[in-house]
Amino acid sequence: MTVLVRSGVGPLCAVARAAIPSIWRGKYFSSGNEPAENNPVTPMLRHLMYKIKSTGPITVAEYMKEVLTNPAKGYYVYRDMLGEQGDFITSPEISQIFGELLGIWFISEWMATGKSTAFQLVELGPGRGTLVGDILRVFTQLGSVLKNCDISVHLVEVSQKLSEIQALTLTEEKVPLERNAGSPVYMKGVTKSGIPISWYRHLHDVPKGYSFYLAHEFFDVLPVHKFQKTPQGWREVFIDIDPQVSDKLRFVLAPSATPAEAFIQHDETRDHVEVCPDAGVIIEELSQRIALTGGAALVADYGHDGTKTDTFRGFCGHKLHDVLIAPGTADLTADVDFSYLRRMAQGKVASLGPIKQHTFLKNMGIDVRLKVLLDKSNEPSVRQQLLQGYDMLINPKKMGERFNFFALLPHERLEGGRHQRNARQSKPFASLVAGFSELAWQ
Ligand code: SAH
Repeated sequence: MTVLVRSGVGPLCAVARAAIPSIWRGKYFSSGNEPAENNPVTPMLRHLMYKIKSTGPITVAEYMKEVLTNPAKGYYVYRDMLGEQGDFITSPEISQIFGELLGIWFISEWMATGKSTAFQLVELGPGRGTLVGDILRVFTQLGSVLKNCDISVHLVEVSQKLSEIQALTLTEEKVPLERNAGSPVYMKGVTKSGIPISWYRHLHDVPKGYSFYLAHEFFDVLPVHKFQKTPQGWREVFIDIDPQVSDKLRFVLAPSATPAEAFIQHDETRDHVEVCPDAGVIIEELSQRIALTGGAALVADYGHDGTKTDTFRGFCGHKLHDVLIAPGTADLTADVDFSYLRRMAQGKVASLGPIKQHTFLKNMGIDVRLKVLLDKSNEPSVRQQLLQGYDMLINPKKMGERFNFFALLPHERLEGGRHQRNARQSKPFASLVAGFSELAWQ
């Protein structure tokens, strides 16, 4: 595999990205029937079997939470799973253009809402810090627009390993990081462009204030409960020890109703659903904050609008992986239900989307940005990487249609537009929110 070398740091240069593997996380897999010999007894499997033996079968949500974020053995806690050496790759790791366009989205919203004198950029689940790095580069390039605006960066991250990588990517070496493992702000520093940056484990610890929130491939790793419709009504899917095969887990159905059933809609027509209460809690918190202090949230992920059923799947080494095999060695994920996110925001803030990544990036001017970078680069390998990255992000058969953008905005942001609309205009004011319609500098 080829990996680009960093060819420059100037405003128009192409920035190094990993080679693109042929698979990304937006594919489906039903857990299944791996032979027992492919089921190594990992420390996480031992821990889960002990737990199940002591207290009984566990929900899929508890399984996901333990496997991904258990503070001692969780998949996300002590490893770098991103990129070509890891288990999956994400849009910011594929192309710098992705983060640059998101940076422009935030500046466009900041301008549209009156150019406040300060804002916080808050990212949930920042991975390697690549996305926020690309956004901050745009903020530096557009320094003349943002001048006199007091910006700070706030990262919500549970992974010790990834927070270290984020610090290496983003912070100025000469300014030592302040660390305090026992504090809600467990690390603090200054970015390469001189902006204060802080790390938290939970969103509720991030200071309230005018903020732009970003969550890219974050909601899909939050724990889901799974339910199956049966002649007796909804029954939750649990995980139990397989009595037939030693050291193996299996799915079972709860014999009676469970409390999480309250999250299923009364008029639900599917026969299998996944619900993610943690996503609801985070959307409520984001909505309250935005309603109170202004700003916006941009959520990008693979998902559906309340239509899909069994999307729980695993990834290891860029391959689909049985979710019940060797827990702790593979990523677990489920598609985001945007209809649920919208319901949780309703009444507090306005929401836009989900719209396809292809449409969002085209509206944000991806073609123009690609052309600028191609025109500036004579290096064939760099040009090829730029074109491949563009295709991966935009192609409807690749990430273009599977990934979606969804935004939360204060009601005033859209109501203001209704007043401005004249009688002949048929489009709602949402047409003035970049990405959800064509970008227009105001
Ligand atoms: N946004 C990045 C990384 C996506 S992977 C990108 O697109 O490249 C998911 C990220 O969420 C990782 O950084 C992981 O450590 C973090 N994460 C997972 N569960 C979390 C939780 N409950 N709270 C905060 N961060 C979490």
